[in-house]
Amino acid sequence: MPRVRTKLVSWDEIVDWSMHLADIIKRDGYRPDLIVAVARGGYVPARLLCDFLSVENLASVQSQHWTEAAKVEEKAILKFSYRLNASGLNILVVDDIVDTGDTLKLARDHIEANWSPKTVKTAALQWISPVAKFKPDYYYLEVKEWIWFQYPWTRLEDTYQFIKRMMSEAYKEMGKSEWTNEEVVKGFNEWYGIDVGETYYRRALDVLLEKGVITYDPSRKTYKLVAT
Ligand code: ADP
Repeated sequence: MPRVRTKLVSWDEIVDWSMHLADIIKRDGYRPDLIVAVARGGYVPARLLCDFLSVENLASVQSQHWTEAAKVEEKAILKFSYRLNASGLNILVVDDIVDTGDTLKLARDHIEANWSPKTVKTAALQWISPVAKFKPDYYYLEVKEWIWFQYPWTRLEDTYQFIKRMMSEAYKEMGKSEWTNEEVVKGFNEWYGIDVGETYYRRALDVLLEKGVITYDPSRKTYKLVAT
């Protein structure tokens, strides 16, 4: 059993899900004049929806989760909250997944309050129904058990963060501080239950080396967490 429930999502699945999502929106009769991608996760689905719904106008807002010092609570904020005159326009705000729902709700509320649109609707490829406080107007897949979806556009970022987490947990749990390349790959497969392929493991280790998170010992052919 993997420690973190993770599903590897392919580019083909993303195209397929976006196509189905476009059909749902079309069947409902909603015709957006402008699509707004919630950065960064909403970029690819939003671009595909432009294609499948024949929408030329694409804008973006970016959200981030803000952690206030010494507070456990995390608040979603908009990074660059500019104003756009969207009077008379029907807007579709798009994200990849609705997890807590804070992000998409925040983007929708901001656009509604500041951009003077005619209408605003929200769409996501996936909606995690048991945890989400917000239900998008349109979604393709309802996810009934929380899981981490490894989307193709965060493959490298997820891989290096997963490797870092695995290494620091293994150190805490059993004092393991040295990893061969093979151990990293095997450990990753066991921990997350997915295989991202040799290129991503190599690049992820390179990122961790560049960031100074790990070091490499060429004589022992091992990686070591710097903090350990
Ligand atoms: P929400 O407000 O919908 O919960 P978050 O602010 O938690 O979204 O997450 C922001 C972004 O983080 C999402 O748009 C998505 O790119 C990524 N994300 C959140 N939860 C997941 C998940 N379960 N699997 C993959 N990516 C996720």
